[in-house]
Formats: sequence, structure tokens, C-alpha cells
Amino acid sequence: MKPQRAVVLGSRFGGLAVISWLRRLFSPGELEITVIDQWEEMIFRPGLVHAMDTAPDRLMPPITLSLSSFWKRHKITSLHDTVVDLDPDRRLVSTATHPPLPYDVLFIATGGTARWDKIPGLDLSHQGLCEGYLARHTATLNRRSTEGQFVFAVGPLQASPSWTPTVHVGCECPLIESALLWDAHLRRLNTRESSSITVITPASHIAEVGGPVIQARVEELLAERQIRLITKAQFVGVTPSTINLDRHTIPYDRAVWVPPMTGAQWLQGSPVADDWGWIPTDEYLNHPQWSDIYAVGDVVSHAWPKMGHAAMVQARISVHHWHQRQTARRTKLRPFAPQLLWILETGSKHALFALSDVFYGGDHQWVYHGQTPYWAKQSFQWAYVHRRGALPIMP
Ligand SMILES: Cc1cc2nc3c(=O)[nH]c(=O)nc-3n(C[C@H](O)[C@H](O)[C@H](O)COP(=O)(O)OP(=O)(O)OC[C@H]3O[C@@H](n4cnc5c(N)ncnc54)[C@H](O)[C@@H]3O)c2cc1C
Repeated sequence: MKPQRAVVLGSRFGGLAVISWLRRLFSPGELEITVIDQWEEMIFRPGLVHAMDTAPDRLMPPITLSLSSFWKRHKITSLHDTVVDLDPDRRLVSTATHPPLPYDVLFIATGGTARWDKIPGLDLSHQGLCEGYLARHTATLNRRSTEGQFVFAVGPLQASPSWTPTVHVGCECPLIESALLWDAHLRRLNTRESSSITVITPASHIAEVGGPVIQARVEELLAERQIRLITKAQFVGVTPSTINLDRHTIPYDRAVWVPPMTGAQWLQGSPVADDWGWIPTDEYLNHPQWSDIYAVGDVVSHAWPKMGHAAMVQARISVHHWHQRQTARRTKLRPFAPQLLWILETGSKHALFALSDVFYGGDHQWVYHGQTPYWAKQSFQWAYVHRRGALPIMP
């Protein structure tokens, strides 16, 4: 029998976990897998926050993963290309430079799109952390000046109005983490007293999708470290020296941005996505209209946490869902249940562990600050980087 064809778009947290699960459940004789990504190497994004306390030339090597031998070992075809279009009826993916690619099942894990242009005056020349080249730039500037007014700002997330509960931001964790790591770095250099640090978010509480216990603990942590917090920010514009909000103006010497985010730009206008480029799915990550399409990770059209951990869990559920359809086996599959899971580095080999499903209607809220979560995160990173995301025990 001819093998089936799986195409995976994107090879970071979501795409890599999909591939790991597909290869655990299907041999190369049963399933041909092709992965398409515009980057040849995978960046382990949680490590990018160390732009705040690491020299620029030492930042990227430990978190840049070459995947070529991984693809070879698992008999996966990799195309280094940009996906430009999708024809869900003819089951074809179009890329910038390869011929249209047919599939039997498609997994989309291309994440959201950073939209610097959504705030007047903000552009790529501002400092960021979300991609390797931005973090390296930030690490370089951090070597030049360690005094003055530092602002860490997260731009709004363009959510679909259908999302419940309502969310205003996508990725606060690295923002808070980088502010705390910068604070710890300045304290080590004895320059903290000649600096101010401010965190700005459009959400009404920091740690928006955590419950009240986690929000209170993060606020307390910021206050203990003399980091000013501004919530409910409505950005009007950015100049080279000020961030203008509707009600006040924040002067800055340096600002680090997690930029505004929308759904995938390449999907805007596609029938597969909603009006903002997010892909609707059911709780098994399956598209409501095309049953051979799954979406995982940041690109899904839900108020679920836009986090690597969530992307990995969604990958497991989506692949098992499709696997069940291919086999006669019918075990009960648990749907995706959103929860916030953070291990937030706070400096000096400490981290805040936060787990909560209260925002999504549950009643679990745990928070713990200490060294154990820091070492747990280090171990996870070590295992992830060395095994290219194919962990012996996957979340
Ligand atoms: C600085 C930082 C720190 C973070 N820390 C944590 C953390 O500690 N814990 C945690 O759980 N989460 C963390 N996150 C969030 C986490 O990184 C994201 O939620 C996760 O990366 C989402 O994975 P994804 O696979 O859905 O999408 P992405 O990571 O966005 O990957 C999408 C991939 O698709 C590719 N792609 C996109 N469009 C195209 C196209 N048109 N053609 C071809 N390829 C394309 C991209 O090149 C990319 O490789 C952090 C994020 C950042 C930015």
C-alpha cells in the first residue's frame, strides 16, 4: 500500500512535537512526512530572555538547534521555504520556491505574526526578544549602556471577538522574565540605583491568564524589585524617547518590546483561517470544516495560552486524534484543556513556578518561587536541545 503523506508547516515547539508524535505512531513505510519552515535552524525561544544577562556572542549557540541530522534519522523530508498559500479542497500547499505540495493530512504550526506596524512609530529598529536576531541586537545594546530608564512593553494581541474569555496579550512571560533578569543583572553590576525599570501591558492584570493568586505573586515580585507596573495600557504611538499611552507619556532611554501580534499573516484571506489569521479548531485541534487539517500552537483561534508547553500538548492530542481515525483503535482521547504553566526565571538561579486553570473555569492555582523551578527549567532546556524536542517523556 502507498504510504500516506503528512505535511507539517512550521518546525518550532508545535511543529517539532507533531513530527515526534507522528514518527512514534507511524513508520516511514506507513507515512511520508514533509516539514516546511522558513528558518533552517530552530531557536529554543525561552532561552532568548538571556539577552538581558549574556554577552551577544554567547547568547545564540546554546539555543540554536540544527535539525538536519534529526530529519535524516527520522526519514523526514525538510523544505527550507516560505509557505504562501493553501488550497484545502485540492489538498495543496504552495510555497515560494517549490512546486505545490500535496498532502493527506496537514498540521499547521506557523505561529502568530509579529506586527510592529500596529503601533504608530514602532518598527523593527526597536529592541525585541522574540527572534534570535532581535535578541542578539538587544544583547549588544545591553553591553553599551546599563543606566537610565528601561521599559519592557508588550503590544496588544489582535484576538477574534469570538474568543472566550477575552484576552489582550499573547506572550507576557518573556517580558516579565526579561525585566527581572535585567534587574538582577544591574544589581550584580551595582548600577541598579541609577536605573528605573517599568513593565507595560494592555491587560488589566499582569499574568492575564493566571488566576488572582498568580497575578498577586507576580505583582509582589515586581514591587519587591522596584519594577513599576503599568496595566490597561492603550498605545497611541512611540517616539525615539517616549511611549505615548492614551493617558500618560512614558519616557525611556531603552525599551524592549514583545510586539503586537495577529494570527498568521500568510493565512489572512484564506478560508481556513478567521479574519485575523487564526485557525479555528475543535478541542482535538481539528479544523471544523476540513477534517484533514489540524492546527497547533500559537496559530490556533482560541484564548488558550500562547506558550510552548501548550503547543506540545496540542501536538500530542492532534496526532493521536488523526491516528485513531487511521486505525480501528478507539480509546477515549482527552481533549485539550487549557491552563497556564509558567516557569519564570527571576535571576540568581531562582524561578517562579505558576500553574493555573482558573482563567479557563477551573479551580487550580499553584505558585512557588525558589531554586527548584529554575533547575527544572534548565533540565528541560538541556533535554529539549539535545533531543531536538523528542523528549523521552513528552508533555
Ligand atoms: C522570548 C520568548 C520566551 C518564551 N518563553 C517561553 C517559556 O519559557 N515557556 C513556554 O512555554 N513558552 C515560551 N514562549 C512562547 C513560545 O515560544 C511560543 O508559544 C511557541 O514558540 C509557539 O510555538 P509554535 O510552534 O506554535 O509557533 P512558533 O514558535 O511561532 O513557530 C512557527 C514556525 O513556523 C515558521 N513559519 C511561520 N510562517 C511561515 C511561513 N509562511 N512559511 C514557512 N515557515 C513559517 C517560523 O519560521 C517558525 O519556525 C516564549 C516566547 C518568546 C518569544
